[in-house]
Amino acid sequence: MNIFDLSFSELEAALIELGQPKYRAKQIWQNLYVNLVGSFDDMTSLPKRLRETLAERFKFGTLQELISLNSSDKSTTKNLFQLQDGQQIETVLMTYDKRRTVCFSTQAGCAMGCVFCATGQMGFERNLTVGEIVEQVLWFARQLKAKEDRLTNLVVMGMGEPFHNYDNTMAALDRLMDDNGYNFGARRITLSTVGLIPAIERFTAENRRVNLAVSLHAATDDLRTELVPINKRYPIADLIASCRNYVEQSGRRITFELALIAKENDTPDQAHALGKLLKGLLCHVNVIPLNPTTDYAGEKSNRERVDEFKRTLENYGVSCTIRMRRGIDINAGCGQLRKTAEIPVLKL
Ligand code: SAH
Ligand code: SF4
Repeated sequence: MNIFDLSFSELEAALIELGQPKYRAKQIWQNLYVNLVGSFDDMTSLPKRLRETLAERFKFGTLQELISLNSSDKSTTKNLFQLQDGQQIETVLMTYDKRRTVCFSTQAGCAMGCVFCATGQMGFERNLTVGEIVEQVLWFARQLKAKEDRLTNLVVMGMGEPFHNYDNTMAALDRLMDDNGYNFGARRITLSTVGLIPAIERFTAENRRVNLAVSLHAATDDLRTELVPINKRYPIADLIASCRNYVEQSGRRITFELALIAKENDTPDQAHALGKLLKGLLCHVNVIPLNPTTDYAGEKSNRERVDEFKRTLENYGVSCTIRMRRGIDINAGCGQLRKTAEIPVLKL
């Protein structure tokens, strides 16, 4: 049993079963999520015998680092982890300016099949457990702590569709936000979804405080269905209606993301259609020129097109940021994560 798969009450129950007083659970929790220890042996506030018992009874995490790559500008680190059953996932740490952001995965692979995404291209393997999700964050949190540094932001934008693994993803976020533990602020967490409407509705009803981003990629159904097949089930009008409802209920701004592909979704027609679609909605649009992947031939938009796209949106009163492509030299950019980092690194 992976200790990171246990909730606090499960940990308490497990300790009682081991004949330990209840307060030990609190101490262990603190060691795991506040002190960020790297092993049972490092839990020096516990008697040695108990540390040994814990090590016999539980696994201290299940991630095995296979590869860790740094981008040439040193701003991005990508780790390939092997899980207990041999599945592989990737996690990215980005350090730009004063930000320290971990982008973590919620599934091994992804079932959504977006054509331009490396994770989609590999297909779905399985959902990650709560522990496997939380551990990815703690892995980098520990490394930073050793340098007297800390994470400032979390993005649920790694491999997989978080709303296709809703329960474990939310439990993992709750764990990371637990004020007796890691105590990470909801406002500094952003979850990105491809647009699974029932889950957006649930997220809204549960009054979740983390920021929500929706990967839109196109403003018309024909094109969106081509790029993002799940659009067939959850078409744009319905999706935007559920986004509007989220904004109304939560009073919060929503983000839309578009990977801009030359002559596909970066045209003036698409920009105008998007402007009309989002006009008046409390939202922000992030555009990123497409990152290369092995199985998709589309090319990134050029700078001129991207600038024009942004200007068009702004004419509708829709704010837009052009995101930098980062970590591309180690295939750590948006949509480039897959199960093996050993594939050839693509030329820019
Ligand atoms: N499944 C969720 C979370 C993954 S986030 C989602 O799709 O939103 C990954 C982000 O990178 C998404 O916005 C996704 O659309 C985007 N993306 C995928 N492939 C990309 C590529 N080749 N270039 C740029 N962005 C890409
Ligand atoms: Fe899955 Fe998101 Fe990639 Fe689409 S873009 S295949 S939803 S990870």
